[in-house]
Amino acid sequence: MRSKLVVGNWKMNGSREANALLLTGILAGLANAKAAAAVCVPAPYLYQCHDLLQGSELAWGAQDVSCQPSGAYTGEVCASMLQDFGCRYVIVGHSERRAYHGESSELVAKKTKALIEAGMTPIVCVGETLEQREAGQTMEVVNEQLGAVLDKIGPDALASIVLAYEPVWAIGTGKTATPEMAQQVHAGLREKLRACNAASAEKVLVLYGGSMKPDNAADLMAQPDIDGGLIGGAALKAADFLAIIHAAK
Ligand code: PEP
Repeated sequence: MRSKLVVGNWKMNGSREANALLLTGILAGLANAKAAAAVCVPAPYLYQCHDLLQGSELAWGAQDVSCQPSGAYTGEVCASMLQDFGCRYVIVGHSERRAYHGESSELVAKKTKALIEAGMTPIVCVGETLEQREAGQTMEVVNEQLGAVLDKIGPDALASIVLAYEPVWAIGTGKTATPEMAQQVHAGLREKLRACNAASAEKVLVLYGGSMKPDNAADLMAQPDIDGGLIGGAALKAADFLAIIHAAK
């Protein structure tokens, strides 16, 4: 049986003062949680996480990484820098990066590989737009996004990733996939993982993301192939984030 993982994606939110309150609030309520928990914060605040969370039950990470190891790439942050600040997880391929920064599946695959080589766990996001869902293309889209990553990292590294299914139409919209809809896609993704490496596929955590909230988290995470959540808006309030973490059984 796979353990559960709940990860907060803070996106471009926070301040040193607000973060300190949020992090101490989360730490205060983590006792007896059945799920592992992490926060992925804006890069400038990684130092604050390193400072406040070291030795705690709450892991931390980043929201993106460069695929390059170092050098003349203005504005970029490479994997070794994230590792320097104790990141365990790094989100790659979030739909906001794909949509606003033109990130291709090939680039997401390179970033995934760079993170694995640096010893961190990439959280690889895949998901379809509303138009693609309505056109019946959901599995085709997510399989293409996942396939590029699997081709790049190969079967031996499969156990090093976390996968997140995030239907684009559910992110930040308040519209959530029903547990059955999400489970159907998660099961399809698991099939694709099995075709890559059958043994590792059973260990890979597949998170759901897209308006997961305290009132829908338990039903979503009760599905056999939903191994936790990637949480945006609800990760910005300690009480909501904790309620989601504790909804994992
Ligand atoms: C996300 O951006 O990863 C996300 C799931 O956002 P929200 O929970 O706000 O829909």
